Amino acid sequence: MSSVAYTLHSAFPVPVRTEPKLSPNHRESKNRPSQAETEARRGSATVLVAAETCSGKELTIMNQEFERRVQERTGQLREANTGLAKQNEELARESRMKSDLLARMSHEFRTPLNAIVGFADLLAEQGEGSLGDAYADYVRHVSDGAQHLLALVNDILDLSRIEAGRMDLRCGDFSAADAIVEVLSVIEPLAKSKNIKLHNDVPGTLITYADRTRFKQILFNLLSNAVKFTPVDGSVQVNAEQDCEGVRFCVIDTGIGIPPEQQEAIFEEFVQVTSPANGVKEGTGLGLAITKGIVELQGGRIWVESALGEGSRFFFTFPAGD
Ligand code: ADP
Repeated sequence: MSSVAYTLHSAFPVPVRTEPKLSPNHRESKNRPSQAETEARRGSATVLVAAETCSGKELTIMNQEFERRVQERTGQLREANTGLAKQNEELARESRMKSDLLARMSHEFRTPLNAIVGFADLLAEQGEGSLGDAYADYVRHVSDGAQHLLALVNDILDLSRIEAGRMDLRCGDFSAADAIVEVLSVIEPLAKSKNIKLHNDVPGTLITYADRTRFKQILFNLLSNAVKFTPVDGSVQVNAEQDCEGVRFCVIDTGIGIPPEQQEAIFEEFVQVTSPANGVKEGTGLGLAITKGIVELQGGRIWVESALGEGSRFFFTFPAGD
């Protein structure tokens, strides 16, 4: 079978018959022209007819017109590209300015907030004399509110540092299990209040290469979420294994789970799917966005596997140490 192609060099395509492909076991009779030969002859005739319909001068004009159009279009594309590059630069500059402003504002907020939390806690201790039930209650609200604001300000500060590429990392080798023990000791009171069992199944011999403080911040975010979103009598486990990507950590809970359509969105800023039950304090909705930022800054990745009502598994990878 022959097929018709069109020459690419003309703005007004001229049909050209292409050579038919022969099968390997194709045999031709000596006397009769083969089908392929007949097709090939017909093809040459078509080209001749097409060439005859346009004189050489006309073809040259067509080619020149085509060249002109190509150049015009190339120019338009180049202009569009330059425009996009400028827009990109402007967006990056605005994003840096936003991050700078947030970082400065957060810094200014922290000092007075720390004072409010500190003095509210002093009042709540009632060392200078009894406050009475009502005032003790008001002071507790002041302290809770200020602590929430402080957490929010700290989170915004972290996030703006990540976005501006200004989060300083001091990476080194350390024992992951030891760092996790320190995090678990902070989480333990909340877990105990809900009768949630905590398991650290990370091998003591496992060495990872990362910023130890930021590693603990990641584990704190994941483990405190796991405890927050797990009903009473559940369990939370952390384990790790080394594979070709480095070390893969996993925080597993038996909690309420996350619907499939929200499993990517929860890593975005201020996305909260559910409120924690059992009187646990509402978070800022920034924890996972920060966690993802820190993991990625250190060359790792993070993802979740979860089913509603069946719990969640948060995975993240880090480079292995020596
Ligand atoms: P928050 O401060 O609300 O905990 P995060 O960014 O840490 O903010 O988490 C975002 C949302 O993802 C949470 O509000 C919750 O809806 C969901 N989530 C996170 N971890 C879990 C978990 N272990 N189980 C169920 N839902 C979770």
